[in-house]
Amino acid sequence: MAENKNSELLGLNFQELSELMETLGQPAYRARQLSHALYRERQPSLDLLTTLPLALRRQLSSAGWTLGLPKIQKRFVSTDGTVRYLVEFADAQTVETVWMPEGDGGEEGDGSEPETRTYDRATICVSSQVGCAVDCHFCMTALLGLLRNLSAGEIVGQILAVLNDQLVNLDTQRINLVFMGQGEPFLNFDNFVKAVSLLVEDVGLPESRMTVSTSGIVPRIADFGQLPVRPKLAISLNASNEETRLQLMPITKKWTLEKLMAAAREFPLRNRERLTFEYVLLGGVNDGDQNAREVVQLLRGLRAKVNLISWNPGPEIPYTTPNSARVASFQRILIDAGIPTFIRKPRGRDIFAACGQLKRTTELVSIS
Ligand code: SAH
Ligand code: SF4
Repeated sequence: MAENKNSELLGLNFQELSELMETLGQPAYRARQLSHALYRERQPSLDLLTTLPLALRRQLSSAGWTLGLPKIQKRFVSTDGTVRYLVEFADAQTVETVWMPEGDGGEEGDGSEPETRTYDRATICVSSQVGCAVDCHFCMTALLGLLRNLSAGEIVGQILAVLNDQLVNLDTQRINLVFMGQGEPFLNFDNFVKAVSLLVEDVGLPESRMTVSTSGIVPRIADFGQLPVRPKLAISLNASNEETRLQLMPITKKWTLEKLMAAAREFPLRNRERLTFEYVLLGGVNDGDQNAREVVQLLRGLRAKVNLISWNPGPEIPYTTPNSARVASFQRILIDAGIPTFIRKPRGRDIFAACGQLKRTTELVSIS
């Protein structure tokens, strides 16, 4: 599987930019200027880096360097304010990045005009690979297969491109990032980790507002726990016993539920941090009261919380979404056992932007 061949500046950290400037015979402070233009100003092209002398820009360009900010190829806007972007990289591959404004939802106007909502924070859902190899049976991304990994610069570039498109007055300190788009971040571990460090150190986004979700790549969970700077961890549990998980997530064959739960127990949580477990509820498959009781057993003694996600439908996938009474009953059992449990509100289902719906759909059909 080919990585995107990188002569892109985006993705280089300060150390690497410094080395590049040195090779080009430039003074050291140019690296700081370049980093600022790339990651803070989010400049879209080399020509616009006017803080750098023209001679240096020409030098970079003739040495084959491009800036590497991805293009927004398409945007789909949901009735709930969510925006699904198709973001295009240099080799014309695309992934999805989802913008979800949140906040007070205060309505402006008198109702006679189309509603405008104000918001004071937003979440960006970021992809880590083009497609996914993990093949969870309820997920539309799985239908793409794995096309390629994203580089660190491409992971960061999605966020910069969306911020350029969206940010008017919103403070970047109020941006949440969830690495829950296309792909399995822990199967592109090094690039994912580098992207996080660029986002924290160079872009300046708060680490405390980042969460990564894994389908359960057990050895990487341990590696991730050792990182000095890291997002919060969410584990896609999705089943309450070995047999059901194996049926829904074939990866369970390689890393069993037992091993996954052992890794979760050993995970070094920080002060006041909780592990998040995500649980996709599939009607009649894993959503019974007995399943909820099994989840309680699995999570016994863990500092955890649970996000319940009612299955988001997609064509070609034979599951059903449980009704709200079923979801509430499942939630009640967990809460009564002392586990903080939340029902994740679906965002952008009408434009195929919700969890598990990212497969680059461009023809929007009704899915009711
Ligand atoms: N690959 C990673 C992160 C992306 S998926 C992972 O699987 O954890 C983000 C979340 O969406 C996961 O918890 C996954 O279980 C859930 N999901 C997948 N398909 C879904 C669907 N059709 N409806 C609701 N949630 C889904
Ligand atoms: Fe990949 Fe996550 Fe979808 Fe599973 S749920 S196929 S790991 S994106």
